[in-house]
Amino acid sequence: MDYISTRGQSPAVDSAQAVLSGLAPDGGLYMPRAIPAFDWQHCLTLSAQQMSAAILSALLPDIPNMEALVKRAYTGKFETEDLTPTVPVGDFQVLELFRGPTSAFKDVALSMLPQLLTAAKREKGIAQEIRVLTATSGDTGKAALVGFQDVPGVSICVFYPFGGVSQVQRAQMVTQEGENVHVCAVEGNFDDAQTGVKNIFAACQGKALPFLLSSANSINIGRLAPQIMYYFKSYADLLSRKVISLGDKVDFSVPTGNFGDILAGYLAKKLGLPVGRLICASNANNVLTDFLTTGVYDRRRPLLKTTSPSMDILVSSNLERLLYLLSGDTALVAGLMKDLSEQGFYRVPDALLGAIQAEFAAGYCNDAQAEAVIGRVYREQGYLMDPHTACGWAAAETHRGDVPTVVLSTASPYKFSTAVLTAIGADTSGSEYDRMERMQALTGIPIPPALAALRTKPERHTGVIPKEKMLEFVLGR
Ligand SMILES: *Cc1c(COP(=O)(O)O)cnc(C)c1O
Repeated sequence: MDYISTRGQSPAVDSAQAVLSGLAPDGGLYMPRAIPAFDWQHCLTLSAQQMSAAILSALLPDIPNMEALVKRAYTGKFETEDLTPTVPVGDFQVLELFRGPTSAFKDVALSMLPQLLTAAKREKGIAQEIRVLTATSGDTGKAALVGFQDVPGVSICVFYPFGGVSQVQRAQMVTQEGENVHVCAVEGNFDDAQTGVKNIFAACQGKALPFLLSSANSINIGRLAPQIMYYFKSYADLLSRKVISLGDKVDFSVPTGNFGDILAGYLAKKLGLPVGRLICASNANNVLTDFLTTGVYDRRRPLLKTTSPSMDILVSSNLERLLYLLSGDTALVAGLMKDLSEQGFYRVPDALLGAIQAEFAAGYCNDAQAEAVIGRVYREQGYLMDPHTACGWAAAETHRGDVPTVVLSTASPYKFSTAVLTAIGADTSGSEYDRMERMQALTGIPIPPALAALRTKPERHTGVIPKEKMLEFVLGR
C-alpha cells in the first residue's frame, strides 16, 4: 500500500518503508494514500489482540505475520488480557490505557513498535542494526526502553532532562535492564534534549554509520497505528455491556499533547467505527483549544510547566496529519508548516476549519481545575485519576452531549502522586515511594507492582552529560 508524505515532496513508499523511515525526507509525515476498506463490524467481535492484528494488517499490509507480532508484543505484558478495559464512572465511561508495563498509555504503542520495526527491517532485507533515539519528558522514554529491551538487531538511547522528570520517572529509566538499552541525563530542559536528538539526526544524514538511526516518537506511523485498537475495544465493551447498540455513536474525550492519541481515534472513525465527536483535551498549554476554536495555530507563547507534564507541548506534530486528511491538499499543508516554522503561527482556510470543527471539540483546564476534578470524582465516585485524565474528564463535562462519552485515562495516578494526593486533601511529604504507599493506604487501590519494585532496584544508568556530548554518547555505544 502506498504511503505518501503530508507535504507531497517525497516519493511514495510502501508501509514497511514508512515504518522504517519515520519521517518523510521532505519533513512531512507518512499517511496512506487512501484509507483501506475495513470490516469494522467484524473487528468488534474479536479479542483485543485479534483487533490489533486486523487493524494493523489493514493499515500496514507490507508487514507480514501480524498476528504473531501482536502476540509477541502484548502477551503477558499487560495486567489484563483485554489490554485496555473500559469502566463506568458516574456519567462517563473511562478507558484505562495505563494497565501496561510502565503505567502510561504509551505502552500500547511502544510494545508494538519494536515488533513492527524489526519485521519491516526483515522485509526490506536490512542487516544493519537499528539505533532508536528518543528524548523524553518522562513517559515515552521508559515505555520505549521496555518495548525495545533485548529486541535483536535494535538498540536504544534515551535522553531525559537532568532534574526535569519526576523521581519515579527517573527511577523507571535508570534501573532499566537489557543489553541494548542506553539512558543518559542531559544538562538542560526537555527542549534541549529534543533539539539535541534532532541535531544528531541532521549530523548523521548521509554519513556511513554502523547502524541506521530511527525514532520512537509518534511521528512514526508504526507508533500511531497500534493506538487505533483501543477505540474499537472500548466500543465493543460498551456493546457487550448494552450501554449502546451497534451503530450508535460514542464521543471520546482525549488528553492530548502531540495529537497522536486523538488522531488514532479519528483513524478509527475513518475505518468505520461510529465515533461521534472527538474532544481534544489540553492543560494550560491550550494551543490546540485556541486552534480548534479560531483556526489559528500560534506557538508564540511560553511553555508552562503543569501537573500533567506529558501534555506540556506547544507543537503538536500529528496535527499535520489531520490537516492533510481533511484537506487532501499537500501543497496547503506544506505551506502551513512553513508558516509555523518561519513565523511561529498559521491560519487554516475557513472551509478547512469548518471540516475540523465538524469532527472535533476542544477544551482545557489549568492545574487548579484538574485538581478539583480529581478530588470531586474521588469523593463522589470513589474513582482516582491522574492529572492528564482529569483534563479529559473536564473537557468531557464541558462538551457533554446526548451520546455516551468515553474519557481516555492515560496514566496511573501513582505516576503523579504529589498532584493526586494534594487533590484528595492528603499529606504529600516524604519521598515519592512514601507518597505511593500513603495513597495505597488511603484509597485501597494497589500500587502497580512494577512501580513498587523500583525502590530496591539498582541504578544502572547514572550518567549526566552536557547537550554538546549527545552525539558522542550515541556513537560511542
Ligand atoms: C503522551 C501522553 C499524553 C498525550 O498523548 P499524545 O499522543 O502526545 O497526544 C497524555 N497523557 C499521558 C499520560 C501521556 O504520557
